[in-house]
Amino acid sequence: MSILDQNIEKARNYMQPLVEAGVLNHIDGQTVPAHSGALMDTISPVDGTKLADVAKSDAADIDAAVAAAKAAFRGWSQTPGAERRNILIKVAEAIEARAEEIAFTECMDTGQALRFMSKAAIRGAANFRFFADQAPGAEDGEVSRTPTQMNTTSRRPVGPVGVITPWNTPFMLSTWKIAPALAAGCTVVHKPAEFSPMTAKLLVEIAESAGLPPGVLNVVNGLGETAGKRLTEHPDIKAIAFVGESRTGSMIMKQGAETLKRVHFELGGKNPVIIFDDADIDRAVDAAVFMIYSLNGERCTSSSRLLVQSSIYDEVCARVADAAKRIKVGHPLDPDTVVGPLIHPVHEEKVLSYFVKAKDQGATIAAGGEKVGDQGNFVAPTLFTNATNDMSIAQEEIFGPVLTAISFDTEDDALAMANDTQYGLAAYLWTNDLNRAIRMTDQLQAGMMWVNSENIRHLPSPFGGVKASGIGRDGGDWSFDFYMETVNVSFPRAEHRIPKLGG
Ligand code: NAD
Repeated sequence: MSILDQNIEKARNYMQPLVEAGVLNHIDGQTVPAHSGALMDTISPVDGTKLADVAKSDAADIDAAVAAAKAAFRGWSQTPGAERRNILIKVAEAIEARAEEIAFTECMDTGQALRFMSKAAIRGAANFRFFADQAPGAEDGEVSRTPTQMNTTSRRPVGPVGVITPWNTPFMLSTWKIAPALAAGCTVVHKPAEFSPMTAKLLVEIAESAGLPPGVLNVVNGLGETAGKRLTEHPDIKAIAFVGESRTGSMIMKQGAETLKRVHFELGGKNPVIIFDDADIDRAVDAAVFMIYSLNGERCTSSSRLLVQSSIYDEVCARVADAAKRIKVGHPLDPDTVVGPLIHPVHEEKVLSYFVKAKDQGATIAAGGEKVGDQGNFVAPTLFTNATNDMSIAQEEIFGPVLTAISFDTEDDALAMANDTQYGLAAYLWTNDLNRAIRMTDQLQAGMMWVNSENIRHLPSPFGGVKASGIGRDGGDWSFDFYMETVNVSFPRAEHRIPKLGG
């Protein structure tokens, strides 16, 4: 038996309970079907076959989950931070113990390659550990004194919150939101993406088996426009943490306006990797290739625009094209696979449409630009060259293993092009000129910039975008600021004069 066949067999065994029972909702510690009994399919990106039934929930299911989260809020928010910490550390340990099951299930549900997904569960556990450690001090504030008053600030959890996540790396992204919310003392209703719902059910089961009380984390599956919409409109949900497309973020803002919902958005990107001719070209090429072709390019921080100084443009493009052509496209559970199938035929159609647009707009397809095989959603790692920044392949988020290369002459050109997009999530800069790096990073419109580096996540640092890429920051204390309200209580330090009116 080949390693791939062994892995497929293992995945089948791991997924068996979810396949048999269906990916149902999880409300108040119970596995429950949708109120209406409706189901939808989650399908395999490898061959389009059905993986499992999924509860297709509507407003009634969200209402039930919110009621559970509301009822659990008092107990969980008043659980001492140190105790919440201990429970969340146990959740991290339980995730680690089931890391392979999570990774294999996620590969089958999303099409992401095992070589990257094998770390996703471990990163999810790391998120729980990191935020758990901050739970004991989360409510701490400051004391500031004037001659007459002593002001004390503290934070308290905002209430039950909604978490809405996308399909690209669902487990890791969910933990990124859910772990700080729980550490802060909030209770959660999670609405996972309809294309990849399986590991969200694993997470809630793992968390409860590790000691998380029922009702503290609830999962409701369903479509965005029904279940998701109701969550964003529910008056008892005090905040929505959303990761997904920019236009969905804008819909959520409208939907939440009536109840003055607090929102945190992590949205799309069209992130430039800018390579100057004084850079370490070997490292820059490796990083650019990694940041667009890992995770199927279905990654918000992917380096999807390659801006290269004209003197080295041909050389860099030739090297990237060569690497793209040698990347193995295959089954997500094959340990050699780098690029697996895209999540869904609908998304594949979107990605393929840009191959046509690229040709129509006059760009050159230097690598890929075609579907691979006739089954599943496989597309070849693609490089467009001779592109200009006004083309849709340079402006729109394709969210696949597709890179658009554009040349520039001067620093000003590079900066203007990098900033000429609606997005502003991440930027990658390659230069050995320190002064240039400072000038560029001072003016690049991006929430996160990496200089001479690929995307290395550091949990205490802020993560998030500017412009249409997001509102708010994750990581460090920024996460707690979102899930908590800051309140101030003022005490007199001396008897001060109170104006007497009407006397
Ligand atoms: P999407 O916006 O289509 O869906 C995301 C989630 O929103 C899903 O759960 C969906 O059901 C729900 N939803 C859809 N309409 C809704 C509505 N009206 N009300 C409430 N919920 C609704 O995004 P996607 O296609 O699943 O994911 C890909 C996108 O996510 C890309 O744009 C990518 O850049 C972005 N993303 C951003 C980050 C980041 O950190 N900035 C990380 C990962 C992905």
